[in-house]
Amino acid sequence: MTLLMPDPSPRPLAHLPARATRVLQDVFGYPAFRRDQAEIVTHVASGGDALVLMPTGGGKSLCYQVPALLRDGVGVVVSPLIALMQDQVAALKEAGVRAEFLNSTLDWRQAKEVERRARDGELDLLYLAPERLLTERGLALLDELSIALFAIDEAHCVSQWGHDFRQEYLQLALLAERFPAVPRIALTATADAATRAEIIERLRLHEARAFVQSFDRPNIRYRIAGKDSPRRQLLRFIQDEHAGEAGIVYCLSRKSVEETAQMLAQHGIPALAYHAGFPAAEREARQTRFIEEDGVVIVATIAFGMGIDKPDVRFVAHVDLPKSLEGYYQESGRAGRDGAPAEAWMVYGLADVVQQRRLIEQSEAGDTQRRIATAKLDAMLGLCETARCRRQYLLEYFGEASGPCGNCDNCLEPPAQFDGTEAAQKLLSCIYRCEQASGFAFGAQHIVDVLRGQRTEKVLARGHDRISTFGIGGELDESQWRAILRQLLTMRLVTVDHANWNVLRLAPASREVLSGARRLTLRREVAPKSARRAKGRRRETGAATPTTDSPREEALFQVLREWRRGIAREHAVPAYTVLHDSSLREIARRQPREAHELAGVPGIGAAKLARYGDALIELVRSQ
Ligand code: ADP
Ligand code: ZN
Repeated sequence: MTLLMPDPSPRPLAHLPARATRVLQDVFGYPAFRRDQAEIVTHVASGGDALVLMPTGGGKSLCYQVPALLRDGVGVVVSPLIALMQDQVAALKEAGVRAEFLNSTLDWRQAKEVERRARDGELDLLYLAPERLLTERGLALLDELSIALFAIDEAHCVSQWGHDFRQEYLQLALLAERFPAVPRIALTATADAATRAEIIERLRLHEARAFVQSFDRPNIRYRIAGKDSPRRQLLRFIQDEHAGEAGIVYCLSRKSVEETAQMLAQHGIPALAYHAGFPAAEREARQTRFIEEDGVVIVATIAFGMGIDKPDVRFVAHVDLPKSLEGYYQESGRAGRDGAPAEAWMVYGLADVVQQRRLIEQSEAGDTQRRIATAKLDAMLGLCETARCRRQYLLEYFGEASGPCGNCDNCLEPPAQFDGTEAAQKLLSCIYRCEQASGFAFGAQHIVDVLRGQRTEKVLARGHDRISTFGIGGELDESQWRAILRQLLTMRLVTVDHANWNVLRLAPASREVLSGARRLTLRREVAPKSARRAKGRRRETGAATPTTDSPREEALFQVLREWRRGIAREHAVPAYTVLHDSSLREIARRQPREAHELAGVPGIGAAKLARYGDALIELVRSQ
């Protein structure tokens, strides 16, 4: 790194932390390291091996980028995802770091030039796809370089049991033998102990120090509400609380993806559909728009997301129930990687429970697989129905103890609970009476109609207006009854017969409730809250980045974004690699008049100050 060279005498290790902080500030423009970063950086910079487990957005990249700049030679980064590699290199170049990549997108002439620069010591960081590294030519190149460190990103790809397994990752063990003097740092966001053990074993990291960080994502607010009309709820959520912001909406089916995207677009929201049914080129084009433009909403199946490194995703919405907490946590974790407030929002309803149970029941999987799937779904349902802190529940599931968070819907507005024994008894007896009267069972809609005393055609045809449970549930509305039924299903007091038009049947355990031997505490369904109140709360609880409140600040922020769009287009890089939203907001708030006042803005390092300082000051002054 030019800023730090020449380095005439080897400096004592004691100075490392201070030098690391200087690099962080000068190059990356950040005032301080987060959590374990400082310790990891010092450890690796002084030649130690490390295994780093951090949640998505935790800040893994700096853990090898800073040591690479502190040590002599080039930092070699092994990364499996070409798109991520390119974005990282683009961001590093914006910050004035001499970074390049070698992958299949370069022609031989370009590749040769990168190799030459690496050999001549002109690079600080070199990103390589594993298959490239492992070729004769790749290894021969490494032999000729002075290497600062090896960083192995997405290290869980060595796990043969994981879903991202990559054959070539297994061969990375040879780095330990071939380059014993070069420190290695392996990084992943995959949490569990089995994967960790596999990484250590397969990458020969037995001597490495493990840095295992909490998986909490404190800036993400979790919210889960009952589903009545999901598309309307989603529209209101985006319009009222996230207008103009980037987000991801997950749906289960391709059809629902397309319809939802269309609905949002009709309401003026720049929404794009994404699923595996589109040709690869189209998928890539949409993904690129999402990453590079501001405020695009992508509506997708879970096919979308792997390798999405966009830091300013402000919300992730689920309009269908995910199959497991693992999936939910990974998907919702794509929000707020930049550490600024973000939301994980979900609506779910009775139909979700029925549908997911049916998918498991009708799957071809063996018994064990089905049992696992059922347990995972139950844990997911538990999150939806719990009246406790959602974050506490999630972290507990991943093996971490914590207190109530103060930043989820249950903490902010504790849900009303009530003794639901009597309501449950009414519902259970109604299921029983209808079946008894007709000799066969009925589905949810019919049961609720009978309870509420609706004289529908079907109710009359079956003579269910004459049974004892007809109209005994008039005190609750339809959505409240559905919420109660949903909870009885989750508790397995009622079962759904998927083979017979989803009719409801009493489970043996319901007897105790009917007899009064078991009392039930249920969660009261509340109407979706008004958006204004939700917004107000967000400010009260202290956002991590100041929100620009005054119209002048907001106007300046928009002007800055427009300027950034132009720069991004000119440099052909994603907008966030120029400057993050949080940096632009901070500028709008401070309204600096002189270039030196920009120096304290997070995300503005020496290179960006030199490159953009004047333009930014000019913009602020002209406002
Ligand atoms: P990960 O790879 O762990 O998912 P990244 O390395 O992409 O996370 O970092 C996530 C975001 O946090 C990036 O936008 C990065 O610039 C930012 N970041 C990381 N460390 C710091 C820090 N010490 N101060 C401020 N921002 C940081
Ligand atoms: Zn909470």
